[in-house]
Amino acid sequence: MMGERAHIVIAGGGMIGGAAALVLGRAGCRVSLLEPAPQPGWPTDSPPAAYGTRVCAISLASVALLQQLEVWPRVVAQRVSPFRGMQIWSGDPGQALHFDSAELGQPELGFIVENDLLSAVLWEALGNLPEVTHLQTALCGMTKPRSPGSEIKVRCSDGVEISADLLIAADGARSLGRILGGFASHWRDFGQSALVARVETTEPHQETAYQRFLAGGPLAFLPLADGSSSIVWSQPRAEAEARMRLLEAAFRDELQAAFGNTLGAIGQVGPRSVFPLMRQHADRYEQPGVLLLGDAAHSVHPLAGQGVNLGFADIRALQSLIAEASGSWCRDSSLLRRFGRQRRAENSCMIAAMEGLKALFSRPDQPRSVLISKGLGLVDQIAPLKRFFISRAGGVI
Ligand SMILES: Cc1cc2nc3c(=O)[nH]c(=O)nc-3n(C[C@H](O)[C@H](O)[C@H](O)COP(=O)(O)OP(=O)(O)OC[C@H]3O[C@@H](n4cnc5c(N)ncnc54)[C@H](O)[C@@H]3O)c2cc1C
Repeated sequence: MMGERAHIVIAGGGMIGGAAALVLGRAGCRVSLLEPAPQPGWPTDSPPAAYGTRVCAISLASVALLQQLEVWPRVVAQRVSPFRGMQIWSGDPGQALHFDSAELGQPELGFIVENDLLSAVLWEALGNLPEVTHLQTALCGMTKPRSPGSEIKVRCSDGVEISADLLIAADGARSLGRILGGFASHWRDFGQSALVARVETTEPHQETAYQRFLAGGPLAFLPLADGSSSIVWSQPRAEAEARMRLLEAAFRDELQAAFGNTLGAIGQVGPRSVFPLMRQHADRYEQPGVLLLGDAAHSVHPLAGQGVNLGFADIRALQSLIAEASGSWCRDSSLLRRFGRQRRAENSCMIAAMEGLKALFSRPDQPRSVLISKGLGLVDQIAPLKRFFISRAGGVI
């Protein structure tokens, strides 16, 4: 499969960099994984009582990858919630569009996982893989290959220099690897921030993910294993900052007014965090000696819960590339170019679909409620369209 033991540097040990390191280490590559943050403390035999504030909706396709990497059972043994249904509405919750996993012939549409937990199980698995070395340092410079197929030189913030066959930048949306590599990228500032927190409700969530489209942006309630929900409330940046400063009771009142009574009364609200929302898409994903993965290549609005799933899809494509390549794939620029083109084309479709949804739900020139009801009603009535949306949500197509 691999003509030689390639040496690859991965910048960034988040969910995508961690999973990439596992795939490459198991394929026999020597990997230096640069991650400045300390190794995550999870998992232990019993998870911490407090939930992490950041969670992701993980698609069935991503779960299949994590199963194949043998880390999914560790997630399940700790803490995870399936979601078997989705409800989406704008004005009247009685008009909500319902998705059910039974329509897919699957027991669930996906799972809600804490980001910290997923990173930690990946790091736990990496700890047992001698091919992968963790360096607690950051990428800070690079010298690109002088000629096609020659080595790249990577500089780290602690002064260490590493020569490698390939640098994989998995260092997130503000990727330094992307900037140093000279990749152009398109940015769009949504002018919104996502406010996230764990909240309790008096009515059970019934393993359903809820999303209400409001004038300022979508508000999602994602089910957690202990019966509480994790909210992702996208809203104009100034409003999010103001809501961060509210006392808990005042915040709860605003949240209740925004979401309504679908889950009864909102009770205790955990610590809140806020994230500015932007879309970023690199013009290309590869240059000689450098490959972009995950948010470093593409980051999207969380309204469809697809960001990390697109990154896991990049990794599945990388697995196929390694399996198909006869020799040393990581200095084969035409192979990497093909990988980059394929992934960019697929991600562009998803990004365009999400921009379309976002535009549909935020057109100021028409009464929003009419437009949204029309959009949701249309999807609900056209069975193939509905199946398409469910399948995309579940990541099975
Ligand atoms: C509010 C919110 C909700 C979301 N919900 C969902 C969801 O439901 N479903 C979904 O699929 N996606 C969701 N996403 C998107 C998802 O969180 C991201 O797509 C995912 O975290 C990207 O993972 P990553 O590993 O590519 O990047 P990151 O998670 O950003 O990790 C990058 C890593 O690189 C490290 N790093 C940074 N700079 C350097 C450097 N110079 N050298 C070395 N390392 C470096 C960082 O320390 C970090 O560990 C959401 C995003 C937001 C903001």
